[in-house]
Amino acid sequence: MANETQRKLIGPGTVVTLDEEDTVLQDGGVLLQGNRIEEVGTFTALREKHPDVPTLDAGGRTIMPGFINAHAHFYGIFARGMALKDAPPQTFAQVLERLWWRLDKALDADAVYLSAMLGGIAALRSGCTTIIDHHASPNAIAGSLDRIADAMDALGLRACLCYEVTDRDGEERARAGIEENVRFLERARDGRLRGKFCLHASFTVGDKTLAAAREAAQSLGAGFHIHCAEGPEDGAHSRVHYGKGVVERLLDEGILGPDTIVAHAVHIDEKDMGLLAESGTTVSHQPHSNMGNAVGWARILRMAERGVPVAVGTDGYTWDMLETMRTAAVLHSHMTGQPGTGVGEFANALLRGNARLASAIWGMPVGSLVPGAAADIILLDYYPPTPLSGGNLPWHIQFGMAAHQVHTVIVDGRIVVDDHRLQGVDEKEVAAQALPVALAVWERF
Ligand SMILES: [Zn+2]
Repeated sequence: MANETQRKLIGPGTVVTLDEEDTVLQDGGVLLQGNRIEEVGTFTALREKHPDVPTLDAGGRTIMPGFINAHAHFYGIFARGMALKDAPPQTFAQVLERLWWRLDKALDADAVYLSAMLGGIAALRSGCTTIIDHHASPNAIAGSLDRIADAMDALGLRACLCYEVTDRDGEERARAGIEENVRFLERARDGRLRGKFCLHASFTVGDKTLAAAREAAQSLGAGFHIHCAEGPEDGAHSRVHYGKGVVERLLDEGILGPDTIVAHAVHIDEKDMGLLAESGTTVSHQPHSNMGNAVGWARILRMAERGVPVAVGTDGYTWDMLETMRTAAVLHSHMTGQPGTGVGEFANALLRGNARLASAIWGMPVGSLVPGAAADIILLDYYPPTPLSGGNLPWHIQFGMAAHQVHTVIVDGRIVVDDHRLQGVDEKEVAAQALPVALAVWERF
């Protein structure tokens, strides 16, 4: 007999399962056994079948899988409100040189930890339960992923972490970056934490470092997480130095493949899309970041049509995945000149694409409410005022669901947000701890 103390029945509510049939259950319930989902069905039937299991009263709310962020940077948080020390950037290269490549050097271990706490809190508050992060702190490389992992443990988040390898700070730091990935990948093999092997972008990683990174990643069976063709610089650099486009270079160097995430892919062509599709590489789309940096518009819908696996991330611009999906959809409606384009496609990318990505990383279903899946669940104060079905869910997301409705968040079977409040973490206290650290980061910047 199952241990009843490990079980919990959540319901009744509108259960959005995101299973293969897109099942939506009115008066639904979800039965948890520890950190996995055991059964999904009508609340009444589950209650009758399991009379002794404690109930988490969902009060008729919407019950759905937690959101997944496919590409983020915790470390960018201390840039909020910070004055630059150079003239305002006019190009994407200048954004990197005048902001991000100065900020990351100003981070120490405490700043790394607190940035992950702040980003993680914002993520949980908006119903995001899994974050795939891409980290850089060139003056605090060794152990930096452990500091992020500490924050993930404190918050109870699921996370896939990695350290950005690059040649832009010299050979020694490139080597240290490789070592940090290797060290963390060897550690993060179970539970809520996993790793990928991070590279900054083709234009800052030369052949020697790339070969060393590939060898290290292959020995661990790890996929990569890399920026690709975000601005026009990446492709131009690759053509000048390697005589080929950036996607082609990454493919030839063995970086692309089914376990690799490339972020952005704004400046790519049809041939590149074919290479990404054939290699099974996931492209992650960050609409706010692309628009904010004025780098252009990623043809994500065309990529999906060509068979490229696509996902949605935030680049640290926001932690709110509902907002991100909405923005991706209206960006594509706007750019294609076709009203309504993108709503269904981006809901699909966010809910299905990101779930496929996370499920592959964790080796079990993540991002759906099906038996055996990770118990990563959110309850929203969203009571559908028009009929809600699997088929029209994207329009409820686009026009109805919002982060302020996130009432309860469960990650890995543990309640981490209850009645809009974080459990075991004092948000005000974390912000108060961050303030002097932010001042010190600004000072060093
Ligand atoms: Zn990024």
